Amino acid sequence: MKPIGLIAVGNPDRAILESVQAAVAREYRTRCSIEGQLDAHSAFRPERGQYHSTALLERLLHDDHIQLGVTEVDLFIPILTFVFGEAQLGGSAAIVSYHRLTQEFYGLPADDALLLDRTAKEAIHEIGHAAGLTHCDDYQCVMAASHAVEWLDVKSAALCAFCRRRL
Ligand SMILES: [Zn+2]
Ligand SMILES: [Zn+2]
Repeated sequence: MKPIGLIAVGNPDRAILESVQAAVAREYRTRCSIEGQLDAHSAFRPERGQYHSTALLERLLHDDHIQLGVTEVDLFIPILTFVFGEAQLGGSAAIVSYHRLTQEFYGLPADDALLLDRTAKEAIHEIGHAAGLTHCDDYQCVMAASHAVEWLDVKSAALCAFCRRRL
């Protein structure tokens, strides 16, 4: 597994970045460092009031390690209302947004521990795609597809044995 560099895209919360850093390093047993910041402005699409995920992903491509962008801004790709994250399959870049991972987004009281847990799962999931993994049928595996927070909450933050072997 290549080393992983975290990039703050926009102005994500520092505690969330550090939590993602620890979770990713643990799950992939690789070095993970916080490496810099990227301005999200050029990816903003005023007609949607959201940020184009793929435009940010392209700016995260890197030669010798995987770069993971972590952001608080709301991401979309043109065919979908929103995305929690996106990755270049078998590539070098991934991005995750926690905009829709907060309980407040759904009108519920804040839950910081749950937010860290969801963001870590989504980060590990997108890095899995960047490392070449596709979606997994095991609903508990972190590589299970999850387009709603309810699905994120039922799966674990870990790769199943099958996905780990495929890495
Ligand atoms: Zn996925
Ligand atoms: Zn799996």
